[in-house]
Amino acid sequence: MDRDVTSAPTRRQNACTTDGSAELFGRAKGVTPGGVNSPVRAFSAVGGTPRFIASASGAYLTDVDGNSYVDLICSWGPMLLGHAHPEVLAAVQAAAQGGTSYGAPTEAEVDLAAAIIDRTPVEQVRLVNSGTEATMTVLRLARGITGRDKIIKFAGCYHGHVDALLAAAGSGVATLALPGTPGVTAATTADTIVLPYNDRAAVREAFATYGDQIAAVISESAPGNMGVIDPGVEDGAGFNAFLRDQAHDHGALLILDEVMTGFRVSRSGQYGRDGVAGDLVTFGKVMGGGFPAAAFGGSAELMSHLAPVGGVYQAGTLSGNPVATAAGLTTLRLATDDVYTRIDETAARLQQEITTALTAAGVPHVINAAGNLFSVFFAPEGPAVIDYAGAQTQSTKAYAAFFHAMLDRGVYLPPSAYEAWFLSAAHDDDALDRIVAALPAAAHAAAEEL
Ligand SMILES: *Cc1c(COP(=O)(O)O)cnc(C)c1O
Repeated sequence: MDRDVTSAPTRRQNACTTDGSAELFGRAKGVTPGGVNSPVRAFSAVGGTPRFIASASGAYLTDVDGNSYVDLICSWGPMLLGHAHPEVLAAVQAAAQGGTSYGAPTEAEVDLAAAIIDRTPVEQVRLVNSGTEATMTVLRLARGITGRDKIIKFAGCYHGHVDALLAAAGSGVATLALPGTPGVTAATTADTIVLPYNDRAAVREAFATYGDQIAAVISESAPGNMGVIDPGVEDGAGFNAFLRDQAHDHGALLILDEVMTGFRVSRSGQYGRDGVAGDLVTFGKVMGGGFPAAAFGGSAELMSHLAPVGGVYQAGTLSGNPVATAAGLTTLRLATDDVYTRIDETAARLQQEITTALTAAGVPHVINAAGNLFSVFFAPEGPAVIDYAGAQTQSTKAYAAFFHAMLDRGVYLPPSAYEAWFLSAAHDDDALDRIVAALPAAAHAAAEEL
C-alpha cells in the first residue's frame, strides 16, 4: 500500500551519503513488501530513503553509511534508558547463556509480573509478546467476562493491528490514508463503535443506545498515535475518569491501553498522572527493554477468567521469554524516579526550543504533551488539538520538510506527523545541543511549505 516514494514531497539534497541505505532499501523491496517490516519505517509519509541502522548507543543511531543521528524515536518508545545500556546488555547476555527459551515457567517471569504490579493498579498480569497480542486478548477477556459483544474505541487511537480495532486507527493507518484496511471483514468490525476522542456526548449517546451490549471501552490512556493528546489529569475530571464512570454505570469494563505510556510518562505510566485505574490494562514497549515482551492485567477476580483458571483461552510459545524478561526486568529496575525527572526536564526544554525556532520562522504550530511524551502539529494556532479531526488539520507537507532538514543535520524524528516524539535518559546536553542547532534551518524548511 506504500505510495511511490518519488511522488512524496520534494526535499533538499542530503548533506551526507546515504548510498548504503539506498542500496539496502532496493534489496529489501525485493524481499519484503515496501522494504520494511512495519509500514511507518518506509518513510512513505515524508519521502526519501529510510536509513538502515547498523548500531545504536545511548541517544544515537548510526546508519550503514556511518551517519549518526540523535534518536527521537527510541524504537517507538521502548528505549527509555537509551540504546545498549550496559546493565541491560549484561542481563541479556547472562540470560542467553542460560538458554533462550524453555516453554516452562521461570522465576524471572514472576519477578517481572511483580515489578509491573508494584507500579500499576493491576493485581495480576499475563505476559505476552507484543502490544497487539495484549489488546487482542483483553478484548476477548472483556467479552468473555461480560457476555457482551460491542466495544467502543476512539478515532485516531491505535491498539496494534487487531482486526476489530483497525477502524480509524491513527498513525500507520492514517499516514497511509487507508480507509480502515482491506482484509478485515465487516462482521469483525460490526461490534466496534468508533467515536471521536474527548467527545463526552458521543460516549453518553453510545451507552444510551447500546448500554446492555457494550463489553468495554478501550482507549489509549493518553493517545500518542494521532500525535499526543492529554486526556486531562484534573482530579476525577479527565477523560479517563469520565470513561470509567460511564462504563461502570452500564456494567461495562474500562480498558486502558498503556502500551506506549506505561513506565514512560511516569514510573506508573498515565495511571501515575491521573490515578484512573483501567479494569483491564495493557502494557508493552518499555517493559520489554527493547525485546518482544508485553503484558495485560487487571484485578485477580477479572484475571481469573483466563485459562488455565477460567474459560477464556490465551497462550504463547515464547511468552515470558527469558531473554526478553531479563531485559524488561532490568529496564524497570533502572527506571528510577531520577530517570523520569530527567526525561521530563529534557522534554520540557526541547518543547521550549522547538517553539522558539518555529515562532522565529513564523510557523504556526501546536505542541501537545502528556508528561514527557509530546508531538508537534504544524497546525493553526488557537484551536487545541483534542481529537483526530484536530490532528488532521496539520500540514504533513510542512512536517516532511521539517523532518528531512532535521535528518540532514543528524536528528532522527518520527517519519510521520502523526507520531509522538520519544526521549531517553541518555539524551544529554550534547544530544540536546545537536537538536537545538538543527532547529532554525528545519523551521525555515517548514515555513517554505506553508
Ligand atoms: C505500539 C502500540 C500498540 C501495539 O504494540 P505492538 O508491540 O507494536 O504490537 C498497542 N497500543 C498502543 C497504544 C501502542 O502505542
